[in-house]
Amino acid sequence: QQAVRNVGIAERSGSRAGVWHPINPRLQLLDEPPPHRYPPRMIFDDIIAAIATAHGVAGVAVVRASGPGAFELARGIFVPAVEGDIPPRRMTYGRFVDEHGRTVDDGYFVHFPEGASFTGQEVVELHTHGGLAAPAKVLSLLAARGARMAEPGEFTRRALHTGRVDLAQAEAVLDVVHARSEAALRAARSRLAGALSGRVATIRDRLIEAKSLVEADIDFEDEDTGHVDPAEVRALLASVADDLDALCATYQRGRVYREGAYAVIAGRPNVGKSSLLNALLGRRRAIVADQPGTTRDAVEDEAILGGVPFRLVDTAGLRREAEAIESEGIEIARERMAEADLIVFVVDASAGWGDEDKQLRAELPPVPVIEVANKSDLLDDTGHDDGLLVSAKTGRDLDALIATMAATVIGDAGGEEEALLAHERHFRQCDLAAARVRDALAALDAGLSPAITALEMQDAIKALGEVLGETTPDDVLNQIFARFCIGK
Ligand code: GDP
Repeated sequence: QQAVRNVGIAERSGSRAGVWHPINPRLQLLDEPPPHRYPPRMIFDDIIAAIATAHGVAGVAVVRASGPGAFELARGIFVPAVEGDIPPRRMTYGRFVDEHGRTVDDGYFVHFPEGASFTGQEVVELHTHGGLAAPAKVLSLLAARGARMAEPGEFTRRALHTGRVDLAQAEAVLDVVHARSEAALRAARSRLAGALSGRVATIRDRLIEAKSLVEADIDFEDEDTGHVDPAEVRALLASVADDLDALCATYQRGRVYREGAYAVIAGRPNVGKSSLLNALLGRRRAIVADQPGTTRDAVEDEAILGGVPFRLVDTAGLRREAEAIESEGIEIARERMAEADLIVFVVDASAGWGDEDKQLRAELPPVPVIEVANKSDLLDDTGHDDGLLVSAKTGRDLDALIATMAATVIGDAGGEEEALLAHERHFRQCDLAAARVRDALAALDAGLSPAITALEMQDAIKALGEVLGETTPDDVLNQIFARFCIGK
């Protein structure tokens, strides 16, 4: 379609093969239609089944089936304790039986009719005893009656297909499941409830409105009447660009809640980095020694600090003269620091800031740095107020450090309920949309053909549509759902 539109413009502007786009040279390349790939078509109308709960010893397991006829299929392996109909959305107690009528387990049958289920299709949930054997047997009974084993994420994909959720919401299902803190859960839940989708859809709708204004102008291009006020289109586009920028700015926070912030503890040997890591984790993880240079590899672990999921890394002490293994550790430390969200730079409070500390501090990569003076217990209580003074040994003022760490990666604007961009793909699409809207503005200001402005806007609309799953290519969908586990 892009290529066809380009030819349209080429004809209009009288050139032979596509326009040389003055702002966006990429568009030249679209003279040839893009090659199409047709991935194998997903089937959505058969019955899929999977164990929805985690494998392993547990009280209860849930086997789920979805698709037209799922109720009848599952009904065939269930004998209710009390004869009669199985009412929808109620738990009905009974026995799961094999083809000979032998009981394999007892448990509950729940029927979610079409239109009132997670997938939007007819769904049944069979609650068996937990562990491996019972749910596996019930699943195999469903398979024997014709259910197909679900692919990873296939239930959620069906919810997308039936329009129960859009793509951003479907991805939020996974974020809810993986949330590692309450704040992360709230952020993911708000995406699942449609906060992000709503914000993206609103921006997209305003772009569609602006585009229709511009297109009206194209239709009237050769006539004297009917011109649209460019100032109106300009104002609309400018406010859309602002909204997209504001949305893109939420990515740092959204990503940190979803993936965790990467914090590297760095500093000279023996200042107490390993002790600080252990204190923050609340357990002994790294080796603490009074000999300098003991941490040679990067020791990494996860913790929730101030409600924010962190990946904490203790690195080899930084120093200029080190033996071979230690230098490699220092090299690793530098690599980790370059990709960190935050560096906690530790000095020894009892020794104060030395020349080497200052030099190492100056050499840190351009990443937010919190300076911490450790071993405050070795100081007398008076007269030290420079920066964060903590003791890994006694735990003194670690809460202040934790609060500073959380605030540094999250910022203090807004709550986690607001719509946050959390996936790199969403961020890239919104960023792309923002760039195209700015290109459209530039085209408008340069007095170029409205067709070019409209084309830029179409690109932006498409980019936002990919967040919502409306224009997302199948292979991208396949990649997204491949990250889900079976039964989701
Ligand atoms: P790293 O080399 O920077 O990782 O430092 P370590 O955590 O291995 O600690 C070096 C030495 O300092 C050990 O003997 C620790 O017991 C000691 N140490 C670490 N933190 C503190 C602290 O807060 N107070 C005191 N008094 N000693 C500490």
